[in-house]
Amino acid sequence: MYRCILVVVLCLTAGAGAVRADAPFPAHRVAGNTYYVGSQELASFLITTPAGHFLINSSFEETVPLIRGAVESLGFKMTDVKYLLASHAHSDHVAGHAKLQALTGAKVFVMAGDDDVIESGGKGQYLYADSRWAECPVDRVLKDGEEVTLGGMTLIARRTPGHTRGCTTWAWKETVDGKSLDVVVIGSPNVNPGYRLVDNADYPTIAADFAQTFAVLKSLPCDVFLGAHGNYYDMLAKHERLEKKLSGNPFVDPQGYRAYVALKEATFRKKLADQQAGPIDDASAAEQLRKVGAEVTLTKGVVTGVAVKDLSKFTTNDFETLGRLANLKTLSTSGEALNDQTLSYLTGLVALEDLSTNLAQFSDDGLWQLTLLSNLKQIKFFHTSLKRKDFTGRGLAQLASLKNLRRLTVAGCPFNDEGLAAVGKLTQLENFRTWHTYQTQAGNESLQTLVNLKSLYLGQRLRRYGGESNAQSLTDDSLEVLSKLTSLDTLTLGEQKFSADALIKLKALPNLKRLELFQVDVPAAEIERVRAALPKVVIDWQLVTAEERAKLGRLLAP
Ligand SMILES: [Zn+2]
Repeated sequence: MYRCILVVVLCLTAGAGAVRADAPFPAHRVAGNTYYVGSQELASFLITTPAGHFLINSSFEETVPLIRGAVESLGFKMTDVKYLLASHAHSDHVAGHAKLQALTGAKVFVMAGDDDVIESGGKGQYLYADSRWAECPVDRVLKDGEEVTLGGMTLIARRTPGHTRGCTTWAWKETVDGKSLDVVVIGSPNVNPGYRLVDNADYPTIAADFAQTFAVLKSLPCDVFLGAHGNYYDMLAKHERLEKKLSGNPFVDPQGYRAYVALKEATFRKKLADQQAGPIDDASAAEQLRKVGAEVTLTKGVVTGVAVKDLSKFTTNDFETLGRLANLKTLSTSGEALNDQTLSYLTGLVALEDLSTNLAQFSDDGLWQLTLLSNLKQIKFFHTSLKRKDFTGRGLAQLASLKNLRRLTVAGCPFNDEGLAAVGKLTQLENFRTWHTYQTQAGNESLQTLVNLKSLYLGQRLRRYGGESNAQSLTDDSLEVLSKLTSLDTLTLGEQKFSADALIKLKALPNLKRLELFQVDVPAAEIERVRAALPKVVIDWQLVTAEERAKLGRLLAP
């Protein structure tokens, strides 16, 4: 399903029915009567004939208007679409089927294995059990090798299962300048994070299915290489070449097709071998990880803790070894090498309870992978994604499915009010800490949904790096909001000049036992007034030094 390294990672998000950021993309002719009418992330193809058109992939419901815009920009009519086809039954390719069918009146043809999923709006998917979308009746269930014909054009449906049970690779011929070209749209060759290739009770034939898929893909003649996501075939770069009108058709790429299939098969074989080998020997894993700078804790011969102060020596193999530690409970890392892609190697850490990351480079979509670590109780994000533009924290909403998660820290990163709104969906949280981010006071409103929150730590926002300053995150107005969080027993506030009257509003909190104020600039006499108003609350506060006051002045400057 989605964008891998980009590709791999994207695939995850979509399956979970999670966040999606997508954008329109210029519709363009690929070859002959084949056109790209998808969005920037999600591929859809229109194959036109005098008798009407085929359309492959509806994508998300939200993508359908983009597809419509693309089709119409080429001068074609949606009502001329006669057949609606699919790459595979994950939400990012078929959640818009019902909507697109209603717009076009097209017949819906689906490969056996994916038909029930599309008809029921997502039920019965492997791994993505909670992902749902609008139900869409299926007019015909296809078998491997069946043909769909219209207006002199014949599309062949090849069953390439594994990624889903009915994953479909579409193949047909285009004639361009008297030459016949084989077109292939790969359904998906990706073994997503969390996929079990051995002992999989939910999908027992998954490994054999993937093997069959690679046999089929290697047997197909291919000139024009396409796929369910543009990133399978490097669509952005090829489209750029098309725009520049360089000679030749950039989408004719038989070598690129063969290289892509070979790479994906090697990835599948490696994951299969690792899973067949079973849990790694902990003593040798410990030795390997210590060589690249990890501190490893062994308890009765099994690795229960790993701390890496500098990930820069970690290779892919080291991440893979780390990801096979079946008893690892505590992991802390520091370094940019932990990102969406390397996180995918860690999704097998089913015993992990405590994860702390510093300097990791995650996208919001990539955070979905953390939901596979179902025993997580605590996550700390420090200095996350400082080099990325696709992280606001909105992806944290996906962590709602982590039922054991109690403690979350997000500090020193481009986390903003959108991110706080996402945290507001994590109603299982008992402890939340945040400081030095891009949030504003408005974001604090989102905390009101956290009815189980006992301990809250709020420091000041950072002034925006290199740009205009954002509004402060913690002001006297914040105390009004915080006085509504009645489940709190401990509140920590930092880096502000509060008035005593604002702090006294906290007397509305029936369970408050402790108020910690750090680098809070208030005259000593005023703190005595707060103490008198909150007699049951222990107040931890120290007069700021001249140096701290100067620093605070810089932080709070508009
Ligand atoms: Zn998929």
